[in-house]
Formats: sequence, structure tokens, C-alpha cells
Amino acid sequence: MFGFSLNKLLLTTAIILAIWYGFKWVGRLDRARKKKALKDQGGEPEIRTAEAESLVKCPVCGTYVSPGGAESCGREDCPY
Ligand SMILES: [Zn+2]
Repeated sequence: MFGFSLNKLLLTTAIILAIWYGFKWVGRLDRARKKKALKDQGGEPEIRTAEAESLVKCPVCGTYVSPGGAESCGREDCPY
């Protein structure tokens, strides 16, 4: 009876430890992924490319403006 309950206790402990380490592992992966995503946002060339594609370059000043709500860059000969 005692041996059985001890085995059960050990098994329960092992399961709890496995779950605990599993969560720790997942949390570490998640943190690493978030850190990477944050780093990518900083100097990510992909995002900058997408941004440049959605913007129109002003032929006069070379400033990128959004086609929808284009604003003048301040120059007198700016077409926007
Ligand atoms: Zn302009």
C-alpha cells in the first residue's frame, strides 16, 4: 500500500515537473520569438520594402508620400 502510494507520488511529481519544464521551455521560446520580432521591427528590410511600395515618391523632392492622403513636403514646386 505504501509502495503504491509512493510510486503514485513520484509519478505525480514527475508529471508536475514535466509540465513545469514544458511551460518554462515554451515561455523561453515565446520570449525569444517576441525578442526577434521586436528586433525585426527595428531595422527590418522587409517592412521598409513594404512601406516603400505603398508610398509614392514625389518627383520633385524625392520624399515618399502616401497616394491616398498626399501632403506637400513644403517645397514650392511640390505637386502635392
Ligand atoms: Zn514634394
